[in-house]
Amino acid sequence: MCRHIAYLGKSVSLADLLIAPAFGLFRQSWAPRQQQYGTINADGFGVGWYAGDDEVPARYRRAVPIWADRSFADVARVSRSRCILAAVRSATETMAPDESAAAPFSSGPWLFSHNGRVNGWPGSVEHLAASLPASRLLEMEAPVDSALLWALVLDLLERGEEPGNALGQAAADASAAAGGRYNFLLTDGHQIAATACGDTLFWRAGPDGVAVASEPLDDGPGWHSVPANTILTAAGGEVALRPLPAPRKDSA
Ligand code: GLN
Repeated sequence: MCRHIAYLGKSVSLADLLIAPAFGLFRQSWAPRQQQYGTINADGFGVGWYAGDDEVPARYRRAVPIWADRSFADVARVSRSRCILAAVRSATETMAPDESAAAPFSSGPWLFSHNGRVNGWPGSVEHLAASLPASRLLEMEAPVDSALLWALVLDLLERGEEPGNALGQAAADASAAAGGRYNFLLTDGHQIAATACGDTLFWRAGPDGVAVASEPLDDGPGWHSVPANTILTAAGGEVALRPLPAPRKDSA
């Protein structure tokens, strides 16, 4: 399983959020503390962030381990943002190995990450995929379960679902259809939505902002564990939790 993080708050450098913390995402790439599936996260990484007034985020993704990319350390030192979503990847067997399969996935203002796996890929998703217009499948960035899940979430968003509901519904439907693990992160630069569905998830809110992450970045106070099968939403300094919905009837 990968590790991922979303942050919303005062402007910080990518390095201060991702590299500097004692147990931050950088270190989680080789020494995660709470990872239950897989050991290290060396199959690529990705960072998405919003610069200035631009509503469309920048993305930096690579197929190499985050620690092996010296250029990233330099870019991270001088790039600042009020909203960042990043992931380090441990590829599920048989999934695409290149950078196009690394989170975050994006469309317009959205950034999306999936920590988990769809069981029985790809046969198990025939039914889920059939519920999508062919154009969405052709737009998938890579032949990887996470990209299909992003297509499902984006479809729900474009039908007007609120971000937390879109993630929750996609997680519930995919769980019912295929089994697997569905920890999602989603942001549009103004709010964060997340699901805890099969793996660990934590959040911490303070005067500077809110972080939602697979595991705590440090041993400081204020980290809360999100219960299983929960949707988390964060905006305007407030964090709210609610249970996942039931799957839609035709998804099983
Ligand atoms: N299944 C996804 C992939 O192969 C996510 C992997 C993960 O969470 N480790 O990239």
